[in-house]
Amino acid sequence: MKNNKENILKVNNIHKSYKNGETVIEVLKGVDFSVKRGEVLSIMGPSGAGKSTLLNIIGTLELPDNGEILYNNINPFDLDEKRLAKFRNEKIGFVFQFHHLLPEFTALENVMVPSIIYNDDFEKAREKAHRLLDRVGLGDRINHKPAQLSGGERQRVAVARAMINNPEVILADEPTGNLDIENGENLLKLILDLNTSLGVTFIIATHNLEVSKICARTIYLRDGKIVHDK
Ligand code: ADP
Ligand code: MG
Repeated sequence: MKNNKENILKVNNIHKSYKNGETVIEVLKGVDFSVKRGEVLSIMGPSGAGKSTLLNIIGTLELPDNGEILYNNINPFDLDEKRLAKFRNEKIGFVFQFHHLLPEFTALENVMVPSIIYNDDFEKAREKAHRLLDRVGLGDRINHKPAQLSGGERQRVAVARAMINNPEVILADEPTGNLDIENGENLLKLILDLNTSLGVTFIIATHNLEVSKICARTIYLRDGKIVHDK
């Protein structure tokens, strides 16, 4: 495959602090790393290390105090609000610890949502969502609402939803954090399978060593910096 080893994301010298009354918490103190297309990378660190903060900045949901992120040399924070929202919708997929599915919508409709925000081709979105739900093993659950699905199934729907716009990268914040061991393992197997078979790039924030072990690459966040990149 052409450009297989291309850097799709560069994270340069990211700093982020939070003010809590009089106290300032320096969460990120200069974080640098790059991600290549097709990687599965985990960001490891204890609770409070700043993993979610970093992922939110990479996901353009939060601004860094300093430093920049570049997607194929585009700094999304240079875009105005409208363009940034479109950029995020097209280039970045999100999977959270709690699935964040819309309760009134079926699995199929939930997966369609990111696709129809900027595109009114419902039929195409429906077909693609159906295909993706088949791909994540939920072809027979497309009309179930989130409450009618198990925790593992809901996370599979969330993964399908994250894929619908063929994003550059999928950001997963403790994706197995709310699942039992077996369902967590199955979700990770699915992620690895999608990575191997379709080349989907994943960045997974986790405090779980078992999760990071299955990732080809792990970076460790400690005291606001990356202390180890294997
Ligand atoms: P992790 O995901 O690794 O558990 P977080 O990124 O959620 O860590 O949080 C890192 C630190 O920043 C924690 O001490 C947390 O309390 C603090 N923090 C996170 N978000 C905010 C916020 N919006 N306001 C103030 N402090 C925050
Ligand atoms: Mg977190």
